[in-house]
Amino acid sequence: MLSRVQTVGLDGIQAVSVEVEVDFSAGLPTLGIVGLPEGAVREAKDRVRAALNNSGYHLPAKRIIINLAPAHLPKGGSSYDLPMAIGLLGAMGKLPGECLSGCLFFGELSLDGRLRGVPGVLPAALFARKNGFPRMVVAAENGSEAALTPDLSVFTPPTLGDLVKHLLGETVLAPLAATDWLGWKEEAQGEIPDLAEIKGQEYAKRALEIAAAGGHNMLMTGPPGSGKTFLARALAGILPEMSLEEALEVTAIHSVAGRLSPSRPFVATRPFRSPHHTASKNSLVGGGGHPHPGEVSLAHKGVLFLDEIPEFSRTVLEVLREPLESGEAHISRTSYSARFPADFQLLAACNPCPCGHLGNGLRPCRCAPAQVIGYQSRLSGPLLDRIDLHVDVPPVPTDVLVELPSGEASAKVRDRVLRARGLQYGRNGMGIRNAALNGKALQSHADVTGSARQLLLDAGRKLGFSARAHSRLLRVARTIADLAGTADIGMEHMGEAIQLRVGSGTWGGIAQ
Ligand SMILES: [Zn+2]
Repeated sequence: MLSRVQTVGLDGIQAVSVEVEVDFSAGLPTLGIVGLPEGAVREAKDRVRAALNNSGYHLPAKRIIINLAPAHLPKGGSSYDLPMAIGLLGAMGKLPGECLSGCLFFGELSLDGRLRGVPGVLPAALFARKNGFPRMVVAAENGSEAALTPDLSVFTPPTLGDLVKHLLGETVLAPLAATDWLGWKEEAQGEIPDLAEIKGQEYAKRALEIAAAGGHNMLMTGPPGSGKTFLARALAGILPEMSLEEALEVTAIHSVAGRLSPSRPFVATRPFRSPHHTASKNSLVGGGGHPHPGEVSLAHKGVLFLDEIPEFSRTVLEVLREPLESGEAHISRTSYSARFPADFQLLAACNPCPCGHLGNGLRPCRCAPAQVIGYQSRLSGPLLDRIDLHVDVPPVPTDVLVELPSGEASAKVRDRVLRARGLQYGRNGMGIRNAALNGKALQSHADVTGSARQLLLDAGRKLGFSARAHSRLLRVARTIADLAGTADIGMEHMGEAIQLRVGSGTWGGIAQ
């Protein structure tokens, strides 16, 4: 008797159809799985057999073949346990085919027959809805993640035995109510630090607003304790909120990475990722035994913050170039290749020198000149080319800090960012931020007044800007004019862009 059960496999963050076919025939009693199973699927054989035994179902002494189709799709993970067990029960005649139609099964089994959560449930649920499956069965811990998908009945029976009774109609399980994620969104928004909490640093806050408005990558230079990390964390709060579509895409990435919490399985606000400088290439761009998104993809639609960027290995920083150019991370291994979205905004921070106090009026620098040059030269030119804003974040003395009033609230800054984004999209095309403008597009969209152009030429001659630095200045000046709501880039906009570029002048080593 042949039985067929529907599940999915993952290709990047896309779920693709996988059919589990089970066939019994006469011959030596064996249980074989075909269709390119990896280690985890072979182990599944033992789990599925134990789960069935402990639920009171014993496999017949026959030759049993389980086929995972299509064969060409590499399969990993433990989510095939549940559909294989259901397929075996179907082939044993315990579950008639009509009980299984229109239902997608996705989950792991424990040896005693309980359902267990797995990564990748949201993409699987979105597949079910798109392909006309009205029902889906997952483990309880994955329930609210699956129920993010509208118009899909999600069932979470505790055990295989409970599931069989439900499918046979012997007991009635109620589908989960659609997940109410708005509460989570509010909760997550409350966790983003507000710019109002930062006293002083008006210059750095202004730079952050420009970065948010134009989508510019930014490098902050300053001693430890000057608030660089806090500023970076606050960026998510002044960027436009994600649409539901964006949030579902971001959540799908975190789902495939197995990073969602069962109590809040939805990424409602722009992600903030801050990998340590010892991070490997794999953890940054993705990879591993089977395709796994890296930090650049976990930061998709949000912020990737590289603190102490000169401490990262050069080869690790080198791999950031492709996602920075294309908005995607492409992982290629002998056994697979995969693509994950990786459209993030890069914020980086560094100290001015190894001890951190060069140019700091409050504390002396203890570094030898050669050490300072060595430290600053660790950042590669091609990566710096992708960073439009280079900003000094000087320390604020404690006695000055207490005197200062609280800053402007993030919500107010975000309103200006939204208006500036509106102007950009109207001019550049929907979704195209100024930071993405290059060559001809930059020339045609950056309307520079005569006096502003003269200012740029003069500054370039005096300070020795490269052609690339020139383009970066134009992009930043374009965003400053958008924040001001004007079509032309005037003197004051160009002047501010140049000022940001040159910094406070305390040091200017790596900001070439
Ligand atoms: Zn130093």
